[in-house]
Amino acid sequence: MDLSFGTEADDFRAALRRWLESSLPRDLRGMADDTTFDRRRAWNATLYEAGYAAIDWPAEFGGRDASVLEQLVYNQEMARAGAPGPINAIGVANIAPAIMTLGTEEQKARFLRPMLRGDEIWSQGMSEPGAGSDLASLRCRAERDGDRFLVNGQKTWNSLGHRADWCQLYVRTDPEAPKHEGMTCLLVDMHTPGVETRPITTIGGSLEFAEVFFTDVEVPASAVLGEIGAGWHVATRTLGFERAGVAKLALMLRENFDRLLADAGSERRVDPVNRQRLAACYIDTELLRLLAERTISAAMHGRMPGAEASVVKLAWSSMEQRVAETAVDILGLAASSTGWEDRLLASRSLTIAGGTTEVNKNIVGERVLGLPREPKASGG
Ligand SMILES: Cc1cc2nc3c(=O)[nH]c(=O)nc-3n(C[C@H](O)[C@H](O)[C@H](O)COP(=O)(O)OP(=O)(O)OC[C@H]3O[C@@H](n4cnc5c(N)ncnc54)[C@H](O)[C@@H]3O)c2cc1C
Repeated sequence: MDLSFGTEADDFRAALRRWLESSLPRDLRGMADDTTFDRRRAWNATLYEAGYAAIDWPAEFGGRDASVLEQLVYNQEMARAGAPGPINAIGVANIAPAIMTLGTEEQKARFLRPMLRGDEIWSQGMSEPGAGSDLASLRCRAERDGDRFLVNGQKTWNSLGHRADWCQLYVRTDPEAPKHEGMTCLLVDMHTPGVETRPITTIGGSLEFAEVFFTDVEVPASAVLGEIGAGWHVATRTLGFERAGVAKLALMLRENFDRLLADAGSERRVDPVNRQRLAACYIDTELLRLLAERTISAAMHGRMPGAEASVVKLAWSSMEQRVAETAVDILGLAASSTGWEDRLLASRSLTIAGGTTEVNKNIVGERVLGLPREPKASGG
């Protein structure tokens, strides 16, 4: 069912739907894996030329300054068509807004449009073997040497790291300062000598991210994003422009539930217990839709998504896992030929990426329920 959001949004929907019908190659629908990378990159350029790569971005950088309603319509129509989004997913949603807000004019002019068009691939270097949820424990070092830095250390789980031309890298520039204050964000050319990338293959066999090693990598001082020592500020204070992003999660869950129903609903194995599990998954999809609509409504009234974004992330990630588990239990061996086995394995990462379930529960406990802050190991 298409809800009507008023003439302007309806016109936008009609134009986008027509454009997707005539422009999106049929065999790219629903594609997201590394084997289709080059074709999705070409599609990204097509999106960019038509002004559909990141409609929430300001027009001066290649976006459309789209309203919350237009963003919602965009997400609905892209999901409906099965259209892949921009290839630099983290770049467009997280790195670019940081560059727009905190970057120099040179950095904005140099980086934003090639990132949006997909001409240059970006990764985000935050996590290290000893610093994940606790980002401020990072140890990758950058020492100042005249008008450059020398970077040494390791990052891990860099999405698209094996493909990346650039990295938004978080490093320690002052080991003596309190740990949140001694961090800096650098925009690093991944083709610089001393950068070594080792792809990581996931349990499902796909290539998604990489470990990256830095040995005496020379980075110009002009690569600092924001201020030296303000890396924590860059990491925590930059919010994307997209206000309807939660709708994407609700739409993805709905799409997966519809697939589950199509693949498993007609199976004779749908015994009374599994019927109840299917019904519970349907209730999940409706609950998430309502949560997403509440968040979008708040955004339309000018309220920034706060801790409630953690509630949506928590709910969505475990609901996606339940859908995949239900599919595999009902389909049995047929789960491998219908893609559900891969989906089940991939879904394990959803409760880790972008903030783990436990960390999000802490946020909800402290900022939504007003519970006392968790004790810090350092006593801070
Ligand atoms: C699909 C995917 C893509 C990713 N992409 C990137 C990327 O592009 N760039 C990047 O830098 N990183 C990326 N990551 C890494 C991700 O940010 C980290 O995995 C995440 O921050 C958790 O860190 P960790 O794995 O070191 O686990 P840890 O932080 O060591 O956590 C281990 C366990 O302890 C729990 N825990 C930790 N702290 C607390 C606490 N205070 N209270 C209660 N429990 C706690 C966690 O919930 C978890 O269960 C990606 C991860 C995934 C799965």
